[in-house]
Amino acid sequence: METALKAHQDEQPPLQAENFCRKHEKNKLSGVKKDIEKIYEAVPQLVNVFKIKEKIGEGTFSSVYLATAQLQAGCEEKMALKHLIPTSHPLRIAAELQCLTVAGGQDNVMGVKYCFRKNDHVVIVMPYLEHESFLDILNSLSFEEVREYMFNLFKALRRIHHFGIVHRDVKPSNFLYNRQLKKYALVDFGLAQGTPDTKIELLRVVQSESQQESCSQNKPHLTLGNRAPVSVTAPRQIAQQSASKTSDNIGSLSQMQIKQGKEGKEGSVHHSVQRSVFGERNFNIHSSTYPESPTVKLIKQSKVMDVASRKLATKKMIISTKAVNNGVARKAANSCPAILTCDCYATDRVCSVCLSRRQQVAPRAGTPGFRAPEVLTKCPTQTTAIDMWSAGIIFLSLLSGRYPFYKASDDLTALAQIMTIRGSRETIQAAKTFGKSILCTKEVPAQDLRTLCERLRGTNSSCTKSTSDVLTNPLHEPALATDTDKKVEFASQTPGENIQQLRNSCHEDVNGLEIKITEKATDLKGWDRVPDEAYDLLDKLLDLNPATRITAKEALLHRFFKDVRM
Ligand code: ADP
Ligand code: MG
Ligand code: ZN
Repeated sequence: METALKAHQDEQPPLQAENFCRKHEKNKLSGVKKDIEKIYEAVPQLVNVFKIKEKIGEGTFSSVYLATAQLQAGCEEKMALKHLIPTSHPLRIAAELQCLTVAGGQDNVMGVKYCFRKNDHVVIVMPYLEHESFLDILNSLSFEEVREYMFNLFKALRRIHHFGIVHRDVKPSNFLYNRQLKKYALVDFGLAQGTPDTKIELLRVVQSESQQESCSQNKPHLTLGNRAPVSVTAPRQIAQQSASKTSDNIGSLSQMQIKQGKEGKEGSVHHSVQRSVFGERNFNIHSSTYPESPTVKLIKQSKVMDVASRKLATKKMIISTKAVNNGVARKAANSCPAILTCDCYATDRVCSVCLSRRQQVAPRAGTPGFRAPEVLTKCPTQTTAIDMWSAGIIFLSLLSGRYPFYKASDDLTALAQIMTIRGSRETIQAAKTFGKSILCTKEVPAQDLRTLCERLRGTNSSCTKSTSDVLTNPLHEPALATDTDKKVEFASQTPGENIQQLRNSCHEDVNGLEIKITEKATDLKGWDRVPDEAYDLLDKLLDLNPATRITAKEALLHRFFKDVRM
């Protein structure tokens, strides 16, 4: 729509363009109005309680609205209403709700107030937290604000990990931040999974369902792959237990009841977006929607990488991943053991044994740029450590002033981008520990995190030459958009450059400029004094090996936070 708008503006005199703009706004508004009407219609219980004001979020699986509730005392309270798409798997919905009710409401984890359901439609009502757009504030945050932000993110992660919840989609849009009030909230448990000892019963049910689902993926009769609706055989009781827990909060307002799968739906559902219990959003369409033979997959994956590497001009890496064919790997690939030996390990060809191997099924939820290496390589055993990696990527963005830091449309490109920062040898080495072999045509060294972040932010001492540096240096390419126009835009925007120049000029004029120097020093917002502890923590978050990666509990005790007020 935006490009269409631009093209139009080029041709038309400004006034008409303005009209077009207004019309466009109007269309959007009436679209939202219709959505609001529809939601009232679908869940009529809402009418008497909430005044829905506007749409504040729209994803593949939900729409979120701002609403006010008329309280008895006569005052209004703001709420966020999350309307889940009707095709959401009932177990998924129940699990998301249970995460919010059990782990939420404390330590920066969003809680739930009410839940409404009518037929397929479920609306989760949460306290509303007004929040910033990450991109809008990224370059104006002080170093201290970044420290507080990370501290509060770890607090939320410590809480959910304590409950055995792996969030799987930790990213700025799921961690709400109110800068003024210094309030934070981790939201969106739509992809959450449980650890083996999770305290969230429904996540355990989701887990076993997804195992059935992923194994049935390999059965020839299931031609539609894992998108076919799974009728819920899970204990009705558990679902209703969570339901009653919720309605305890609700009082007489509503009744949440988790719907069981129903047969009549199947025919129509196949064509709409379906969130499976497996928890994978509709990324990776190539590799997971079509049940192909592993042969095609491996070859296909390298092909994907070929195209991707052309896009990333400076990276001529071709990588492919496969399970290391040794005992460790076989043990790791627990659910579908393959008793095979092959001779293609660590070579760039695929042997006949591997060709006949079943596709490895592992959850790969999340957003490519935030996915941990073990997620990208489809390691079947994934732990809470994957959330810590994602937190590390957020921290990397905050320290470098670049968002998104990695912009990859597929897993292998994302892996290549990780290699450019953490080193190819190191990545390959770490992958071996979780039973994965990565082939890579080019060796790239690991980078020093401070040097990288300072260069990107423009606060390093060699910054005066940063314009050409930013343009020609391939090191930080992943932090940039892939098209060249954007690269130039970024380079000329490097905010630290001006700051650095200011600082240099201050150093030159010593006489009578004391006051001015302090003024300008505050402009730096602490970015000239980033302690080593910050990069040490970043290094421990971006540990390629999930087994040694820092935990949320440990991160809170890291020296970086030694004087943060709790
Ligand atoms: P989805 O599963 O569609 O990503 P989320 O739960 O992440 O849904 O919500 C989408 C967006 O809606 C969030 O990024 C945030 O901007 C907004 N949002 C969600 N919950 C709240 C809330 N409690 N208060 C304010 N805004 C919210
Ligand atoms: Mg979200
Ligand atoms: Zn082989």
